[in-house]
Amino acid sequence: MSDKQFKIFLDFDGTITKKDVGEEIFRKYVNEEIVRRIVDDLLADKISSRECWQNLCDAASVMDKTEFDRFILSHEVEPTLQNFVEYCEDCRYPVFVLSDGFDYYIEKIFRKENLSHLKFYSNKLILTDQGKLIPSFPYFSSDCRNSSNCKQNHIIENSSEDDYTVYIGDGNSDIDAIQYVDFIFAKDNLLRFCEMNRITFFPYRNFDDVINRLDEFRSKKRLKKRHQAELKRREAFLAE
Ligand SMILES: [Mg+2]
Repeated sequence: MSDKQFKIFLDFDGTITKKDVGEEIFRKYVNEEIVRRIVDDLLADKISSRECWQNLCDAASVMDKTEFDRFILSHEVEPTLQNFVEYCEDCRYPVFVLSDGFDYYIEKIFRKENLSHLKFYSNKLILTDQGKLIPSFPYFSSDCRNSSNCKQNHIIENSSEDDYTVYIGDGNSDIDAIQYVDFIFAKDNLLRFCEMNRITFFPYRNFDDVINRLDEFRSKKRLKKRHQAELKRREAFLAE
């Protein structure tokens, strides 16, 4: 038994799910050329994540709700996820899902996977009877350009100085948040970002890799926190 308290923060799209569900929705329900233009603007940093979502929703038209929901439910989660959630429960490590996607599909996918008890923070989405997608951003912060749901605020609010904070993610919406945690697990775009910016991270392929590493951390006599993250967190506390 270990006395270390880990807090686990976890991205949704492309991390919990195999594919990026938000992205897949707009690829299906918005004209390809328009999607490309909006995403190019995002990648060139001409628009923020929030503007990107707003533009995509404005351009979308969903005429058949049943088919839309079925499309959402066709998305699979990572096969090692269930085991990881159970591992965290056994170890009493709280898990928080931080998503720059939308509650509309996260709720449906969690229900399908019997994971509705997982705590998550995300943007919100309503589908109107007229087939319009209306997004809202309850956790938006202008300090946070890469994610319309300001992920680092949830990390700061849900952890204390004594906790060892862990982040698991794959993409651009995670790049602000990871600066605030002690241990970063990264793949795909997030991995490349960490490499390019010389941020210490652990590459991972699936959640089994994360479990193995957490076991290792747990058994260490002295586990070092990431100094850079401590500084960032202190800065954030002082700014409040
Ligand atoms: Mg992601």
